[in-house]
Amino acid sequence: MLAILNYHNVAPVPSGMRMPKLYVSPEQFERQLWWLRRLGIAGVSLSEGVRRLNEGNAAGCVALTFDDGYADNVLDAAPILREYGCGATCFVVSDQIGAYNVWDAEKLGGRKPLMTTAQLKTWVDAGFEVGSHTCSHPDMTTLNADAVTHELVNSRTALRDLTGTSISTFCYPFGYHNAELARCVARAGYQLAVTTQRGRARREDDRMLLPRVSVNGRKGLLKFLLRAATPYCDVGRHRRSA
Ligand SMILES: [Zn+2]
Repeated sequence: MLAILNYHNVAPVPSGMRMPKLYVSPEQFERQLWWLRRLGIAGVSLSEGVRRLNEGNAAGCVALTFDDGYADNVLDAAPILREYGCGATCFVVSDQIGAYNVWDAEKLGGRKPLMTTAQLKTWVDAGFEVGSHTCSHPDMTTLNADAVTHELVNSRTALRDLTGTSISTFCYPFGYHNAELARCVARAGYQLAVTTQRGRARREDDRMLLPRVSVNGRKGLLKFLLRAATPYCDVGRHRRSA
């Protein structure tokens, strides 16, 4: 089993922002990593976590993933990740680098800055992984085949060229996915794709439809540890996915 933790922002909640659960404060984040280390659990990138899962060796780790590519990931989370010797994967929206969360700014009541090209390079130079979160963060289940291919292939190429790394991981915008999309993701050359379906990943899981464990910044440390380090999120997994 591998818990693939799903973060968005590591920052104090800006005033007026709806969905404050998407924010984990830097202090909270550090406490979480401190406790994981105390429990002998290493924080690793998605690729590293799944490599260990393939080897039957994932018990002592969790994968740390960050959706959307917010600037606070590199400004606030990265120094803490480094302090604790953790790896991590950030899913970046390739057309919005240096811009903001156009896809949900209105709904959330605020614009959140995304990493610039320079910040993305800082993230990669620090040894962290970059994955694709498409070009424009659409609901992919509503797109025609050409648009799906564009979102998958062009984001992968753009991020590869910007970072100088191969882009092998993908994250479905809004978590929206289906079986045909999963086939398209594999055809576009990705090795791993994550959803927002709740649960820890198992060795036999489809690598294009990996479940995750979301980290809710409104919940306390005990809930975090239950979710990250116990079967807590596996309960009802099959019922939910049926
Ligand atoms: Zn997203």
